Amino acid sequence: MVGVDARLSSLLGDKTAKPMEAMLGLRTAGDLLRHYPRRYAKRGELTAFNELEVGEHVTLMAKVEKNDSRKIRTDLVKTDVVVTDGQRRLTLTFFSKRGHKAQRELAAGREAFFAGKVELFKGKAQLTNPEYELVDDEQGITIDEFAGALIPIYPATAKVSSLVIQRCVRQVLQVVDFAADPLPLEIREARHLLRLEPALRKIHEPADWGDITRAKDRLKWDEAFVLQVTLAQRRLAARALPGVPRVAKPGGLLELFDRSLPFELTAGQRDVGEVLERELAQSHPMYRLLQGEVGSGKTVVALRAMLAVIDSGGQAALLAPTEVLAQQHHRSLRELLGPLAQAGELGGGDVATRVALLTGSQNAGARRAALAEAASGVAGIVVGTHALLSEGVEFHDLGLVVVDEQHRFGVEQRDALRAKAAKPPHVLVMTATPIPRTVAMTVYGDLEVSTLTELPAGRSPIETHVVGTEKAIERAWQRIREEVAAGRQAFVVCPRIGDSGPDEDSTDAGEERRPAVAVLDVAPMLADGPLRGLRLEVLHGRMQPDAKDDVMRRFSGGAIDVLVATTVIEVGVDVPNATVMVAMDADRFGISQLHQLRGRIGRGMHAGLCLLMTEVEPFSPSGQRLQAVAATTDGFELSRVDLEQRREGDVLGATQSGTRSSLKLLRLLRDEDVIRDARDAAVGVVDGDPELARHPALAQAVKDLVDAERAEYLEKA
Ligand code: ADP
Ligand code: MG
Repeated sequence: MVGVDARLSSLLGDKTAKPMEAMLGLRTAGDLLRHYPRRYAKRGELTAFNELEVGEHVTLMAKVEKNDSRKIRTDLVKTDVVVTDGQRRLTLTFFSKRGHKAQRELAAGREAFFAGKVELFKGKAQLTNPEYELVDDEQGITIDEFAGALIPIYPATAKVSSLVIQRCVRQVLQVVDFAADPLPLEIREARHLLRLEPALRKIHEPADWGDITRAKDRLKWDEAFVLQVTLAQRRLAARALPGVPRVAKPGGLLELFDRSLPFELTAGQRDVGEVLERELAQSHPMYRLLQGEVGSGKTVVALRAMLAVIDSGGQAALLAPTEVLAQQHHRSLRELLGPLAQAGELGGGDVATRVALLTGSQNAGARRAALAEAASGVAGIVVGTHALLSEGVEFHDLGLVVVDEQHRFGVEQRDALRAKAAKPPHVLVMTATPIPRTVAMTVYGDLEVSTLTELPAGRSPIETHVVGTEKAIERAWQRIREEVAAGRQAFVVCPRIGDSGPDEDSTDAGEERRPAVAVLDVAPMLADGPLRGLRLEVLHGRMQPDAKDDVMRRFSGGAIDVLVATTVIEVGVDVPNATVMVAMDADRFGISQLHQLRGRIGRGMHAGLCLLMTEVEPFSPSGQRLQAVAATTDGFELSRVDLEQRREGDVLGATQSGTRSSLKLLRLLRDEDVIRDARDAAVGVVDGDPELARHPALAQAVKDLVDAERAEYLEKA
């Protein structure tokens, strides 16, 4: 007997093991046993041939009708085997020197599994030299062993067919001695879950569908549980880190700011504010995700936390995903703070600080000044893009890092910023893309989550329509003219910049369709056509930062009526006077992107109108997505729709590495109950046994997960 960590090469031989490692990443017995079947074929149930696609690797169950061999050269025999699914026929061709054993074995009436690549030969689908396994062969799957059985079909590749995997799994299952079960007994028993060994046997060699269900229930639990234990340990470790308590002081910036606020905080803003205040005052770093709809007032909440930190002698860094957004934050923080941000300036308050801006494209002088303000501590707040992460940026006493629009920042970048403080600073991550609770618990499981659920009072509703017909399009441009005549402003958003050259803010999916409409084409078309006479400008990622900033400034100031832009305006741009948005080729944008974009309007006292222009059919999948966006402004609802439509891997893709490959059976939306239950159970276990000293098998499983994560991380770096 061997352990689950035995190398496949020693169990199966190099010839079989090498391609498994190369093609499927399977190295050990354990890896192979966790390579679960994609589906199951029922014995005696032939696979329908009508869905065979040329070029695809298939595994088929079929019945032999006839076979026929002939010599086509002195040293080459061709054997044609015709098989059927009961209705259609398929020819399998075997070449060999002296007649293929298929001629003997694949006699008429035999049933077998065939695996191979579908090719087109003289206009007909065929498999050339497929692998096969007789269903009732002594060496293969015996009738007794598999009476009424379900046959696993594995994710396979050209070099490693499902049949090969099945054979190897069978071989490995015979020799592996399963290590102790990572799931603690109490947890398993309370939920009537199988032990690990029978679960793995049943998922690979089920007797019936019930076996598969029970096996999956158990193995899914493993995935959820091991991940949650890892996260629980991380949270515990974070709580043990030394941090600097930051408490606002009486008569300080926070108090003065609250007194000067022109509006009342919403109940949600007050509640979250109190939570932040409490956590900042603790002697370990806060690590919190703040989510809330676009316009729900996250920035004010974050600013209040920054002020508390400054009051206590520290500094705050605000990390933004784009230059436009960094500049906008810089400007709006200065505006919100007024004299409180003008320390050392004429008209500055007695109690005051400064807000510095650091971006990659600043001129040397501005950069030097900002660096000096950050390093000396004169600037209580330093706003910036990735440039903040670079070497040479120093802080006097960095106490809080605020990351805006988290989805664009990786864990590594967050860590780089954290490394700039003597003791780990508090971290607040803000996102306007609401994340379903279970996803938050999995993907951002090491953050605590706060949510702003209400919009500030007096916010105007946004109406959204899908616009497809000529007439409706004309009407849309007319609406813009009306709004502008009433003193309002409009956005026209395009998926591409246009011209040739790299499209850094393009969202093109690279499909074979006409190219999406582009800013540089649409702007002149509108200026010479339906929007003639209006003050129209463009904004996109290829413009110089100064030019971008200038356009944004003039748009904010009302000197531009219509801004034709790419998604550079997606996040954070705050111009309350803008009331209309037209998204061109709206189907090219993702759901959450459209929701973000739409959040740019209806920010003031006037109702917003969002028009999604598209050529797609209303009932196509993209048409349905647009209908969903039009039907609700509830970001949580939309993120659910989004998640349901996208492949799970895409959702996890950009986030914590390792998480993705460790989740094979678990589905974030469907398995909400399992995730919640596993999380509670994990917290219980980790609280009682932080080092998992009394749970060695679990400790090993956690270590494997963390190692896999690290390996993937290093691979990426
Ligand atoms: P978010 O960052 O969540 O998208 P912001 O913090 O930028 O939202 O707030 C959007 C707008 O609403 C800003 O102009 C802000 O000054 C304003 N605002 C924030 N909180 C309130 C409130 N409680 N009452 C009225 N207006 C508010
Ligand atoms: Mg914001």
